[in-house]
Formats: sequence, structure tokens, C-alpha cells
Amino acid sequence: MLYYRLRMIPVAEPVLGEKELMYVTDCIRSGWISSIGKYVNEFEEKFSKYCGSKYGVAVANGTVALHLALVALGVGKGDEVIIPDLTFVATANAVSYTGAKPVFIDIDKETWCIDVNQIKGKISKRTKAIIPVHLYGHPCDMDPIMEIAEGHGLRVIEDAAEAHGAEYKGKKVGSIGHVGCFSFYGNKIITTGEGGMCVTDDKELGERIQFLKDHGMSKKKRYWHDEVAFNYRMTNIQAAIGLAQLEKIDKFIELKRKNAFLYNELLMGTPAIVLPVEKEWAKNVYWMYSILVENRDEVMEKLKENAVDSRPFFYPMHVLPPYKLDGSFPVSEHISEKGLNLPSSVKLKEDEIKKVVECIAN
Ligand SMILES: *Cc1c(COP(=O)(O)O)cnc(C)c1O
Repeated sequence: MLYYRLRMIPVAEPVLGEKELMYVTDCIRSGWISSIGKYVNEFEEKFSKYCGSKYGVAVANGTVALHLALVALGVGKGDEVIIPDLTFVATANAVSYTGAKPVFIDIDKETWCIDVNQIKGKISKRTKAIIPVHLYGHPCDMDPIMEIAEGHGLRVIEDAAEAHGAEYKGKKVGSIGHVGCFSFYGNKIITTGEGGMCVTDDKELGERIQFLKDHGMSKKKRYWHDEVAFNYRMTNIQAAIGLAQLEKIDKFIELKRKNAFLYNELLMGTPAIVLPVEKEWAKNVYWMYSILVENRDEVMEKLKENAVDSRPFFYPMHVLPPYKLDGSFPVSEHISEKGLNLPSSVKLKEDEIKKVVECIAN
């Protein structure tokens, strides 16, 4: 069994090297292994700069990045937050933690991101924010989202957990809305093991997020707390890994795109398959190389028999027990049922991609 598993072509895997070891060793030697230390500050500075944002707040994971952003923007009980119906459950859960209600919107059939044409119809008096999710590495159509938000006094939190470095009209995702939230989980474009970050251009908002992540302690009086806040801190060790990863992010994205183009080339013309898009206004980072395929589950079985790992798309939020409702989400349902993530590791070899494609073609 172990042998079999070792031979599997994985969907994703972290790529860690000497640089990560060096920074982590330095961190441990320094003794600063909790959440105070130079690596946290440097990672916040450099990652936010990479995104084109002024401020970065490193946190424990991507889910709490979303939670903090919502709390910092004043979202709470009785409010509504618009999110796409097809996303990882963390987007919906973060909204629920605040006491607000996630309101689901069907997705666009090409980008698989929130359908911007359906947002207005779901805005109510209670709506406070929109969380577009840049799914599997392709950015959402942000201009209409920002326009709608402006017209209705809503805040926009980008869930960029799957799209580090992806671009919308030349701007990196995460830097377009009021706050951008990232995850550095082990399978994400860069990783810190577990980890996340909020980025923003708004100084006051950045400070509020920084304050809330650390128990909301008064800056003037130690152990004085005016409100209930959180311990959502990232450790210096995690940040040391993150910093080393950040130095390689452009290379990782280049490799992801190269792999995606090879898949596209080899899969083109295969019947009953839909390839991922890259809209003319987008730079897709192909966090996951994803296709739509008939008999998805059968294809997954066949891949597994050939030692190729794959993942089905997420379930639509509206079918999950905590969020169950009878709405009409035909596109989300269809894409969730046909969607398949293929091996997308930056370590993939050309002949491995060829093998995956051969399995699918057969
Ligand atoms: C991974 C992910 C998250 C959550 O990140 P964690 O670090 O695992 O908490 C949130 N949203 C999306 C879309 C994700 O893919």
C-alpha cells in the first residue's frame, strides 16, 4: 500500500528546499519561534508588496484571514454576505462565524467564478459585503463587482486563497477589493504548512486586523482589552518558510502555467472534455489544472487504477447540510458534477502529464 502511494502522481505537493531549511534553522537558533520575530514582519512586508498592496497581516490560516477581514469590516449578526455557490466551504464558514448569513450566487460557466450578472438581484437591506473567490487560480471579473459594491455601499473581500499572483487587467488579485485574503496551506501556490494573510491598502483597516488577530490588546496598556478578539497569529517559523517560498513564487507560477499549456495542447480535441479558460483580461495561475469531463467519477477511478491522483470539484454550498436550501444554481451544480482537478504539482514531469492525458483519452 505504501509503495503504491509513493508511486501515485499527486494532485499537489509542497516544494521545499535548502532556503526554507536555512531560514527555519536561523529562526530556531534565534529562539524566536512564536509569533514575534523578524520573519513575520518581513513576510508581511514582502508578500503584501508582491500583491501590490500596502499592508499585510500574517495569520494562522486562510479561513481566519477571511474571518478577521469580515469582523474588521464590521460584519456581524443579522448581516448578509454574498459569496459564490461554488467554493471551498471556508468562504461560507468564515461568514457564519460572524453570525452573518452567506447568500449564494450561481457561477459563470466559463470562469467558474461568481456570476457578476446575478449579484444585484440578491442584494438586500442586510447585505454588507461580497466575497468573490478566484477559483482554482482564475480571477473573477472584478470591475463589475467593485462597481456594484460602490453603488450599494458594500465592502469587497477577495478570497484569493487559490490564486496568489493571478492578475485581473494587470493587477494582482487580493489588491483590488478592500481586503484580500490568502491561504498558505500545504497544497497552495506557496505554503507555510498552515498559514494565511490579509492584504489591504487601507492603513486603518490593516491596523484593525492586526489588532484583532492578537487578542485586541490596547497599544497603550498591556493586558487591557476593550473587546473580545482572537489569537489568529502566524508563528515566526511559519513565516520563515513563507519567506523562502515567496522567493520562488514567480518560478512556481511559470511552471504551473507551462504545465497547463501542455495539458491544453495534449487534451485539445478530446471529445466530451471542456478545458479551463484564461479570459483576455486575466492571468490564470492554474493553481489546479481543472477540466470538465463526462462520467467524472469513472474517469477518477480509472486514473486511480493507473496511479494518478485527482480531485473532484467542491460541492455547491447550497447542497451542504449547514447551508442547505432550494435555490436555482444550475451552472454551479453542473460544474461541480463534471469538474476534475488533475495533477498540478510544479514538480510534474512532461512524461507524467502525457501519462495523465493518455489515461483520460482512453
Ligand atoms: C484553502 C482555501 C481557504 C482556506 O484556507 P485554509 O488555510 O485552509 O484555512 C479559503 N478559501 C478557499 C477558496 C480555499 O481554497
